[in-house]
Amino acid sequence: MNFEYAAAPESRSVVKIDPVYGHFINGKWVSGSAHFNTINPATEEVLSSIALGSAADVDTAVKAARNAFDKSWSKLSGRERGKYLFRIARIMQERAREFAVLETLDNGKPIRESRDVDVPLSAAHFFYHAGWADKLEYAGVDTTTAPHGVVGQIIPWNFPLLMLAWKVAPALATGNTVVLKPAETTSLTALLFAQVCQQAGLPDGVVNIVTGDGSTGSAIVNHPGIDKIAFTGSTEVGKLIARAVAPTNKSLTLELGGKGANIVFGDAAIDETVEGIVNGIFFNQGHVCCAGSRLILQESVADEVLEKLKRRMDKIRVGDPLDKNTDLGAINSAEQLAKIRELTAAGEAEGAGRWSANCALPTNGFWFAPTIFTGVTQAHRIAREEIFGPVLSVLTFRTPAEAIEKANNTPFGLSAGIWSEKGSNILWATQQLRAGVIWANTFNKFDPASPFGGYKESGWGREGGRHGLSAYLKGSAK
Ligand code: NDP
Repeated sequence: MNFEYAAAPESRSVVKIDPVYGHFINGKWVSGSAHFNTINPATEEVLSSIALGSAADVDTAVKAARNAFDKSWSKLSGRERGKYLFRIARIMQERAREFAVLETLDNGKPIRESRDVDVPLSAAHFFYHAGWADKLEYAGVDTTTAPHGVVGQIIPWNFPLLMLAWKVAPALATGNTVVLKPAETTSLTALLFAQVCQQAGLPDGVVNIVTGDGSTGSAIVNHPGIDKIAFTGSTEVGKLIARAVAPTNKSLTLELGGKGANIVFGDAAIDETVEGIVNGIFFNQGHVCCAGSRLILQESVADEVLEKLKRRMDKIRVGDPLDKNTDLGAINSAEQLAKIRELTAAGEAEGAGRWSANCALPTNGFWFAPTIFTGVTQAHRIAREEIFGPVLSVLTFRTPAEAIEKANNTPFGLSAGIWSEKGSNILWATQQLRAGVIWANTFNKFDPASPFGGYKESGWGREGGRHGLSAYLKGSAK
């Protein structure tokens, strides 16, 4: 007998979306001169019209941030700054449902994830950094130096609120002021966060949010009044930013792409491993920089793992992101869907074997069925390039040395996973892998206290933990 889940949609009545939004500059809403639409990627419904920030808007925001830094924020003690951060964290918790529904509407991710991962982790980042604000001398960072001053922050669309929290919380805790640009397709939770700043009584100009596209981001990067740039996004844009910042005195942290290896040794607990593989690649539709997008299986267990994985993938529920039963939501944009289609077509053309879960996809919006490719070689584009979608490339190995060789054979170095019953295997492999974050017998676990960042083309610097704090002070970690 086959049981079906009844639909359990979360109500969208908890959110109020304005038809038009301006920028949030110096504690006030400032009208934009041009606008673009933001849509719900699950339905293509237009949600609102968002201001397209110009270089002049960025300039106004930078001046407001400088003024706030000079006149109020840098004069406050760490204890006073911490109080504001605690207040923001509590308000985010109080308004958690509103944030979760809005994030799901604007991004397409399942409510289960926005409600249970994005929003609680965002609040946790503010709590964590609130705690550090008056204890920086115990954080192992060089507190004889000062905050940078005005920080320009540019964030992507895959975790809109969480990436804002990763950037804004440490910046404020260490005494910087902020000009932040959310991604074009996902501005709404950043604009709700601006309301939280007002509600928390944050001094005007400490947080400024200028919405817009790549040109707005570029105006932030190139503004002479900015002291530090913090960017999360593609390696391509990260390289452009590194070139723009190189001849200046600006500090820079970059959190870029990845092609994480998830290595399964023959002695792994197979059922748990299959759950971990699913979480590693299908969490957040695979729009995750540290996704376990290359599965590297020991040959002795490859057939068993693949058979169980396919059976499990057929049970993944794809559909309405507001339904609490949904596992896999919508692809964030038509552009991203086109990119996933291009790379999966290249996978087939280059000779890898494609298998997709048997699921019905909605007719409106942007959707892609969970897919795996077997018989992938290291030369294939799907083994080398970031697909940033629910697509897993499967490779195999015979010896542990071969697994490490394949795992490290990438221009990226953000994340990796190891599945094995043996601690000695795990410790040996972690020492060989060139990845900033390595999970053992789990995947995609995040904590504000744990530094996150990459090797090679995955970026510079760390976010989170004590290491992340030091990136917002002129001195480096002791
Ligand atoms: P981008 O790197 O283009 O976007 C990230 C942020 O940078 C956005 O806010 C974007 O604005 C902004 N931006 C774009 N161009 C510039 C510029 N010249 N100067 C300053 N800021 C700029 O990523 P995409 O959204 O285009 O995604 C492309 C690919 O990047 C994805 O397919 C995926 O592979 C990868 N990616 C990786 C992420 C990660 O976390 N590692 C996150 C997102 C994407 P706007 O949104 O308005 O374009």
